[in-house]
Amino acid sequence: MRIILLGPPGAGKGTVAKKLQKELDIPVISTGVILRKAITKKTELGEKVESIMSEGELVPDFLIMEIIKERIKEKDCEKGYIFDGFPRNIKQANSLERLNKELFMKIDFVFYFEISDAKIIQRLSSRRVCKKCGCNYNLIFNPPKKDNLCDLCGATLYQRDDDKEDIVKNRIKVYNQQTLPLKIFYKEKKLLKVVDASVSENEFFLNIKKIISN
Ligand code: AMP
Repeated sequence: MRIILLGPPGAGKGTVAKKLQKELDIPVISTGVILRKAITKKTELGEKVESIMSEGELVPDFLIMEIIKERIKEKDCEKGYIFDGFPRNIKQANSLERLNKELFMKIDFVFYFEISDAKIIQRLSSRRVCKKCGCNYNLIFNPPKKDNLCDLCGATLYQRDDDKEDIVKNRIKVYNQQTLPLKIFYKEKKLLKVVDASVSENEFFLNIKKIISN
């Protein structure tokens, strides 16, 4: 099964992706996670994208498509995958269409996460991420058991540079201009499922599971 999670930053795509990964036994492909790892490891890719990401702008499409092309050919993607944060604009979506044709693959579901800008800003400003394992927390809704430390690996939590308020506002603007048109793109392809992302995490996940099993 091949799934796209589409929605603004902070809508909960990463959290749902991890739960779906467990449920369906297929990998999550998060372009944001891949890019952040490249920055941490100071690779050539990381150096190219660091300043772009810290401003909340989109990384050039050709770099993203190189990542995707390599990743979906890996063995663990044979049964499918969950895209989190990709595609991010119409150009990427068209490139994905062409790639899928070449590989005789197709997307089964596009889940669109519906949520207000006010909720996004509230969620992102209280999001914290583990430096070591990348696990996400929220100081209000899902705080770590010990202050500022990851429940899973004990490493320190940090706030992503792009989760600071002025950058979040730019990310929302970029999202509305470049990513939101994908809602119509996938609606026309009859793949779009709109889900209310403002409800509790559990309810939200159950709604998605219901749609998949139907
Ligand atoms: P995310 O973790 O999905 O919120 O992504 C964080 C940042 O990584 C974005 O603000 C972009 O700068 C970059 N990024 C992630 N995925 C993409 C993509 N598919 N296309 C362009 N830039 C991306």
